[in-house]
Parts: sequence; structure tokens; C-alpha cells
Amino acid sequence: MKTYDTIYADGAFIPSESTGTIEVRNPVTEQVIGSVPEGSSADVDKAVAAARKAFETWGQSNVEDRVKYLTLLNEQLMGRMNELASLITEELGMPENLSQMIQVGLPMGMISNYVEIADRFEWEADLNGSLVVKEPIGVVGAITPWNFPLHQITCKIIPGLLAGCTFVVKPSEVTPLTAYFLAEVLNDIGLPPGVFNLVSGTGPVVGEALAAHPDVDMISFTGSTAAGRRVSEVASKTVKRVALELGGKSPYVILDDAPIDEAVTAGIGQCYLNSGQACVAWSRMLVPQDKVDEVAAKAKEIAEGYGAMLGPLVSQTQWDRVQGYLNLGIEEGAEVVTGGPGKPEGHETGYFVKPTIFKGVTNDMTIAQEEIFGPVISIIGYDDDDDAIRIANDTIYGLHAGVYGGDVERAKKVARRIRAGNVDINGQKANLSAPFGGYKQSGNGREWGTYGLEEYLEVKALNL
Ligand code: NAD
Repeated sequence: MKTYDTIYADGAFIPSESTGTIEVRNPVTEQVIGSVPEGSSADVDKAVAAARKAFETWGQSNVEDRVKYLTLLNEQLMGRMNELASLITEELGMPENLSQMIQVGLPMGMISNYVEIADRFEWEADLNGSLVVKEPIGVVGAITPWNFPLHQITCKIIPGLLAGCTFVVKPSEVTPLTAYFLAEVLNDIGLPPGVFNLVSGTGPVVGEALAAHPDVDMISFTGSTAAGRRVSEVASKTVKRVALELGGKSPYVILDDAPIDEAVTAGIGQCYLNSGQACVAWSRMLVPQDKVDEVAAKAKEIAEGYGAMLGPLVSQTQWDRVQGYLNLGIEEGAEVVTGGPGKPEGHETGYFVKPTIFKGVTNDMTIAQEEIFGPVISIIGYDDDDDAIRIANDTIYGLHAGVYGGDVERAKKVARRIRAGNVDINGQKANLSAPFGGYKQSGNGREWGTYGLEEYLEVKALNL
């Protein structure tokens, strides 16, 4: 049992001002495995004060010195990879081999990438006689979701720390143990007090206290569109910068010249990653009308072979939510190709769901419009490329998309017309150097690579 009754502020684990606690459950066993404080606004005040004070020196420190800490952090993560992957598996449910590769591997890759970027980044430039300098924005409040518990924090703090910012992190209340592990590691490597602070708790209390705080210069938020909207409202009173990474309902367009087996395999693999609990999940598979049955048959075969690669959902709440959508899909007239409501055989305990494929879905159905956050794919037929693009863009979201086709140039043309921040072509994987973020109601921020670093910088002109 991992029981924490502290927050981490000013370089020390100190008691929370709150007496409430939040229990953490293992999604496979449904048992409580730990707890953290249900922090308060007084905790936030302490953490922000520490971050403010630390900014005075950290914000003025050399980039080379800051890079040293990133390197030390990466060494620690490498050394403790197994332990960390097990912890993430315990609180999130992702199978352990995938946790190692993705949940720990991705943040490590990102740190290495930023260490390289630090070297070649243009921190200042001459512009017609003015010296344009890039400076850290200040104290950042980072609010993160549960689906990639380490990555969602590191993709904010790594570029932010490199920029010279200091942080107060509020991790998801569903998977906070990973954040405590990270705080312990940052403490162990001797990161100066106050540079990184951690306050656990709920969104409406700790999250909103951070968003409202006059001494917080920026909020970097990743989570649902509804919560992001609220964070923007609360933050607007102090006119701080707000970077939002929100939900998605991503389309995956299989063009009529695509090799069906490869295309369907790539599409399902992407959507089912983390049991479909990914903001980028290609949950709408757009297929030429005359290929719907062929695609559905292939999708059924692949989905039914998924087995142990698919972990449970993270919580009972998430399980209930996904069941709600599965039932709604059926009520709306969609046809279950495989899966559907209920638990898979042999998984009576744990928040497991059946990998599901629907066909006969039209884009106006709720299951095609709302984010389900489970292993559920809706196959939607289209008439021609223009129709596919119209359907792809017929959503309030614009985070991610995929296009698969026999001719890359044609696939690129389609990709350019999709209103989304990332479009993977022919099963290409994410690139840590490329910007990541959403159009429309998927947000306004860009993380990863140099674009992710720019988010934490102010630009000043010294007119000489
Ligand atoms: P969520 O919005 O419920 O919670 C995210 C975080 O926001 C949590 O820390 C939560 O405590 C906090 N929060 C909730 N209400 C708040 C409020 N009123 N004020 C301040 N903070 C508040 O989301 P979740 O269920 O943890 O994660 C799933 C969602 O996150 C999905 O919609 C998914 O698409 C999105 N997501 C987006 C990205 C991206 O990069 N665009 C990445 C991962 C997840």
C-alpha cells in the first residue's frame, strides 16, 4: 500500500493542510493500492509561493545547468524503469511490457530530445538592430490527466524546466502515485527547492485554485474539453497564458487504393492503444462504401485476436461511461460487428471491456461525435475523397487523424485538408520532434519539440 499524506513543496514532503484523502485503485484487481491527500487551496498557496521564490534563481540560471538536471532525471528513470513501469501498470492497468515501452520509454525519449534541442535552440536573435530574447514565462501550473501519468507531466515540465520556468503540478486524482514517484526522483537528484512542486487533489479545488492564482503566470492543461473550458474561464481573470491539450474524435481515412489488411491493422492498433484511452485514438474509421463489409470482416478478426494486449479501463467510472456509449450505439441503430456491452469472458473482476467494432454508423450519431475513451471503433462509409474529408472534419474536435492510401501523394492531399494538428500517413508513428496539439475544441497549445519549448517562453525585444 502506498499511502502519502504530504504534498511536495519547496524541496520537502510536507503535510497537506487538508485532512481528506483520495484512494487509488488497481484496475485489474479493483483493490485499493494507495492514497494521496485531497489537497486544498492552502496547499496550492504554499506550493506557488515556493515556485515563485525559486523562479528568481532558476529563471536566471544557465541552460547548461538546467540540462544537467534533465540528464540526471533521465539516468534515474532508466535505472528505475522496471519499478516505474510496474507502478504505472498498477494504477493505470496497461500491461507491463507496454508500460515499459510507452509509459516510461516515451518520456525518456522526450527528455533526450530536449537535451539535444537545448544545444541548437535560438534563445536570442538579432532583428533589424533589436535583440530579441526568449525568457521563461515564470511559474507554471500544470494540470494533467490519468491516461499517460508520467508522460503527461514530463511533456510539460521538461520543456518548461529547460526554458527556466518553475512548476506546481496537479496530477490526475485517478493516477497520482506516478507523480509522487517523479517527485521523489526529482528530490533525489537535488533539483533546487521550489523548482518542482506537487499538490494532489481534485480539479475543482486544487486545479481551479492554481488556475485562479495571481502568482501563476501560465496554466498548461491536458484533459477533457469540458474541464479545459472551465480552466480558461477561471484563468481569464488574471490574463495568464493558458495552453490547452483537450479531447478528440479522430478520423482515420482508408482510401480506396489502400491495402486493406495493412490499413485496418494500423487503424485498430492505433485506436486500441491504452485500451482506447488516448486523446489521439482514431475512433472513426472512414471507409469507401463498397469496402465497408470487407473492412468490417478484417477488423473483427483483428479485434478478436487482441486478448491480453488490451488492459482494463482505468476505473469503474470509465467502465460505466464506455458501457453507456456501447448501449447508446446499439439504440442509435449501429450494428455490433464484434464486442459490445459487458465484460469479456474470464474477466469478471477488473474494469475490462470487449474490444468493439461498430458498422452502419453515420457521423451524426452520438458514438461518432463524442469521445468514448475506450476500445471502440465506428466504421463509417463514404462516397468519394471529398465526402471522406467532409465527414472527417464534421466534428468539434481537431486533434489527430490518419490517412492510409496506396499513393502517398494522394494521401498527403487528403491529409492537408483535414483540420487537425497531426495527421499520420500510412501508419507512420508519432514524431517527438514534431509539434503535437489540437485545432478547434481540441485545444490551442502545442507540445513536444521546439514548439513545446516555445510555449514556456516570453519574447522580449531589446531595442538597441
Ligand atoms: P479530466 O478533464 O477529467 O481531468 C484532467 C485533469 O483536469 C485532472 O487532473 C482533473 O483533476 C483536472 N480537472 C478537472 N476539472 C477541473 C477544473 N474544473 N479545474 C481545473 N482542473 C480540473 O480528463 P481525464 O479524464 O483525466 O482525461 C481524459 C481526457 O483528457 C480526454 O478528454 C482526453 O482526450 C484528454 N486528453 C487530451 C490529451 C491531449 O494531449 N490533447 C492527452 C491526453 C488526454
